Amino acid sequence: MKTLKSKISFVYLSLVVLIAAVGTTAVVNLFSLSKAIDNLLSANYKSIQAAANMAEAIERQDSAVLIYSSIDPTSGKNQFIENNDEFLKWFNICASNITETGEKGLIEQIKTSHDKYISLFMKLQEIAISSGKQPALDFYNKEMLPDFDEIKTSLKQLSLLNEKAMFNSKYSATENSRKSTYLVLGLSITAMIGGYFLSRYSTNKFLSPIASLIQTMKLVKAGDLNQQTDIDTKDEIGQLAMEFNKMTKRLLQYEQSALGKLFEEKNKSLAIVKNISDPLVVLDTDYRIVLLNDAFERVFNVREETLINRHFLEGVRNGEIFDFISSSLSLNEETRHKIFPVQSDNQNYYFNVIITTVKGNDSGLSGIIAVFQNVTQLKELEKIRTDFIATISHEFKTPLTSIMMGTGILMDEGLGNLNSEQKHFIKAIQEDSDRLTNLVTDLLELTRIESGRAAYKFQEYAVDDIIECAVKPFYQLAELNEVNIYFQCDEDMRPVIADFQKITYVLNNLISNALKYTNAGDEISVSAKEKDDKVFVTVKDTGVGIPEEYLSRIFDKFVQVNDGDFEVRGTGLGLAVVKEIIDAHQGQIGCESRLDVGSSFTFTLRAAERKDRYEEKGFGD
Ligand code: ADP
Repeated sequence: MKTLKSKISFVYLSLVVLIAAVGTTAVVNLFSLSKAIDNLLSANYKSIQAAANMAEAIERQDSAVLIYSSIDPTSGKNQFIENNDEFLKWFNICASNITETGEKGLIEQIKTSHDKYISLFMKLQEIAISSGKQPALDFYNKEMLPDFDEIKTSLKQLSLLNEKAMFNSKYSATENSRKSTYLVLGLSITAMIGGYFLSRYSTNKFLSPIASLIQTMKLVKAGDLNQQTDIDTKDEIGQLAMEFNKMTKRLLQYEQSALGKLFEEKNKSLAIVKNISDPLVVLDTDYRIVLLNDAFERVFNVREETLINRHFLEGVRNGEIFDFISSSLSLNEETRHKIFPVQSDNQNYYFNVIITTVKGNDSGLSGIIAVFQNVTQLKELEKIRTDFIATISHEFKTPLTSIMMGTGILMDEGLGNLNSEQKHFIKAIQEDSDRLTNLVTDLLELTRIESGRAAYKFQEYAVDDIIECAVKPFYQLAELNEVNIYFQCDEDMRPVIADFQKITYVLNNLISNALKYTNAGDEISVSAKEKDDKVFVTVKDTGVGIPEEYLSRIFDKFVQVNDGDFEVRGTGLGLAVVKEIIDAHQGQIGCESRLDVGSSFTFTLRAAERKDRYEEKGFGD
């Protein structure tokens, strides 16, 4: 019996056999009971009935003898013969239904007595014919009546014998039925108990391997892939266990190989990270240090063992960098970078801190990588360059002033009259000196801002005040150029936090550019809007526009559009200065433009709380 199916079938078959045994016993017993009752009725009751009928027939025969002897011989004889036939009919039934001991003797006795009774009647007839009625009656009383009584006694005995047998049969039937009841009851109880224990035993036996399999499955689910079931049956559960064991073995092999690969990859990545020449630190979402490299240890003078799991600020004591990292998370940008001065080991460094956010499986944040790119040398070079430009520009200023002054005096003919050719040359010198002065002024302004030497004085101002102040000086020039210039601000706007001078400089630059690149009939508008704690200021014109390929670098230094239609009218530094100023205000600046449609420059400033609710306050440099 190998399969579970055959085992279950065997149990069912055993139960069916038990039920069949109980059923057969019950049927056999019922059958024998019904047979006993049948016998009771058919054998004994038939004999009792026959005996009663014989007794009735002999009574009538006896009456017929008396009728024959004393009243009417013919009718008496006929009645005698009729009842004789009746008697014999019941006698034959009785004779063929002998069932009890002693019954045969009684039948033979009845037969002998009845035969004698008939022969005595024959003799009585002879006496009646030969001697008359009285002798016949005497013969009857003397000879026939005793025989008649004997027959009746025998018939009574026969009836009694059968009645007794009937009672005996009834008793034995009752006894049989009682025994059958007990037997069937006993068998049913045995079958019930046997069936219960058989099914309980077999259910337990079949299910115990499943319980052990479930137990092993739970351990595997909890991660212990080293588990195997010890079920060794050959049935379906045994096969299932075998397949399960194979599966866990494969899983274990897979896990071991995947883990091995993972470790290998991790070690590789670790080696790469460790050997990166720039300091690198990996943080978790609570800004605790998860990993750092050798360069980080060196530059920040820390040890990995003491820093792992500690807060970032314990490794890099620089609140500005930490603010930049935490603000990078809220901005939801993948990478951001910014240059910070850092002091370590009495040395000044400049680091371009590059922040990369790492997303987990559920696309939520799982970590932060901060790389500290050492740009100290670049910064130093830039400083040298800025200082150099500043010095050169400064050195240019004095001779330029003398040139401008000299040419001015010459042009005014203070030193004598000039011919037209001389005037033409001096005018050219004046124009070039003008352009050079502008360049020097812009360069000085830019180097001042870039080097951080420019001081900002942040205060709260109504934005329309700044705009009005910036637009005013251009009305005349605009009118001259036949360009319509106007400004509009949303009503009830919050004040902005700004350096009045610098933002005026920004607006001047943008408006003067707009005027430079517009023609008669064009329009320039300056507008302001408030949204999300910011004020958006836009300078828009309907001028020549900027080609698309320039838009991405229009705020870079020395970038100028030169498409031939317009002669270059500036230094290419104005927008670079503008961007530096807006950056210092923690704002953004952008440009939208289409050729022959116009350009629009928008920058943002931080909106302050309303003046009527808070006192005006100054913001330090
Ligand atoms: P510049 O002193 O040459 O104007 P800017 O940095 O201010 O230098 O501008 C850079 C270039 O951007 C300009 O040369 C010009 O080609 C383009 N530009 C700036 N503003 C506008 C404008 N409103 N319309 C068209 N072109 C513009």
